[in-house]
Amino acid sequence: MLTQRNRTIFLRITIAIFALVVLLLPGCKNLKQGRTGRQAKPPVVIFVIDTWRADHAGCYGYERNVTPNIDRWSQQATRFVTAHSPSSWTVPAMASMFTGVYPWSHGVVKAEISDASKVDYQPTLAEQFTTLAEAMKAAGYETFGVSGNYHLHEKYGMAQGFDHYTAFGFRTRDPVDLQIKDWLPKLQQLQRQGKPYFLFVLYFDPHHPYLPVEPFISQWRPDYDEDKLRELVGESFAKRAYAGDYDNDPKTLQIFKDLYDSEIAAADNSVGRWLKELPGIDDALVVVTADHGEAFADHQNMIHGTDLYNETVHVPLLVKFPGGEYAGKAPTHAVSTVDLYPTIADYTGASLPAYLEGQDLLAGLAKPDAKRYLFAETERAEQAHWRAVITTQEKWVMRASDKVQKFYNLLADPTEQRDLYVPEHEPSSKFYAVWVKHNRHKPLYEPGSAGEVTKELRDTLKELGYL
Ligand SMILES: [Zn+2]
Repeated sequence: MLTQRNRTIFLRITIAIFALVVLLLPGCKNLKQGRTGRQAKPPVVIFVIDTWRADHAGCYGYERNVTPNIDRWSQQATRFVTAHSPSSWTVPAMASMFTGVYPWSHGVVKAEISDASKVDYQPTLAEQFTTLAEAMKAAGYETFGVSGNYHLHEKYGMAQGFDHYTAFGFRTRDPVDLQIKDWLPKLQQLQRQGKPYFLFVLYFDPHHPYLPVEPFISQWRPDYDEDKLRELVGESFAKRAYAGDYDNDPKTLQIFKDLYDSEIAAADNSVGRWLKELPGIDDALVVVTADHGEAFADHQNMIHGTDLYNETVHVPLLVKFPGGEYAGKAPTHAVSTVDLYPTIADYTGASLPAYLEGQDLLAGLAKPDAKRYLFAETERAEQAHWRAVITTQEKWVMRASDKVQKFYNLLADPTEQRDLYVPEHEPSSKFYAVWVKHNRHKPLYEPGSAGEVTKELRDTLKELGYL
């Protein structure tokens, strides 16, 4: 039995312990923020190489030496073997990376381009979203973003949260590298002051038009005729490609792949440079990935955005966590680039909006969920619209217009050659039900619109049911 005096002491001790716990709570939070890293808030750097399919990366098994810098650096990173983009083209894929939600939730799924330098129409990402850059800024980061792809221009809502931002009009690496170089003194100053920075970089290079880049192209096409190659990928390329002119022409397809590889190598060269020169990079959280892949007629389609086969949605995803955590690991469970937002926000102690649809990659590493469903969709104006449900083992796709469905066993058939779909039977019917159940049908926040919509374009978009 406790005496009155003992009860008082007990009560005081209880109150003291409670007070101590409350006082220590922010400290506990800081510990969580720091995880095993050397800094509570390390620099965070994301490199996206546009149109870079996973099987054209050395560290993903490509026999050609196109990414020596990234391959070397990847030893320090976690290589997610089965990473998917939530779409097969830039606009929805990047809006998803920035918001941490699937395209059905942000609604930025269409755009029209009349030539290689101008976007005629593109919805704007709704301001109500707390983008990754906004979350990082709120967490005390100074935020920098540079894109060689015009689809990420600030007028389309893609610069939300960036203190410093530039999007060039479909330009290869030089202006992007010059911009980073211009920011270097500022990044160094922040690093000296112990203030964290967040840097997002997108290289447009491997996106068509495929261009010959030296010294890389001569390594695998030593006698190339530059004028002839440039003519081949000139004005008529996209039209002929979409018309199927190259689908059964392996010789020409190989030329395109050689050019494409030379541009991947050029982007790798730039990424390699910054992986050495950025201040605090050794202690940083660094991501190297792609927005989507490239088709090269693997399934009778060219370019990207026209379907959801692996060549356009399976992307390299390398994440270097500070302190060597999970360095050199190659987990095989399926993940998505929508997972980057929760992973980075959680690691750095930034806030996580409740609506996020991605999952923390670190939590997945600790406890992989091989049965997790991932989603992808593509809805470019003139091309077929597709939906996909993907797990580590299997993949279901459906063409939205006529509900043509296909089903693949990805483990046995990673290049999706044998369609196993049986109408109204498991497992396809189960995947269809999963799609119906998860699909939001209406964006969380409606996108706005930007760009000049001509009468002709408006009529076409109306015809297609977009307006
Ligand atoms: Zn892209």
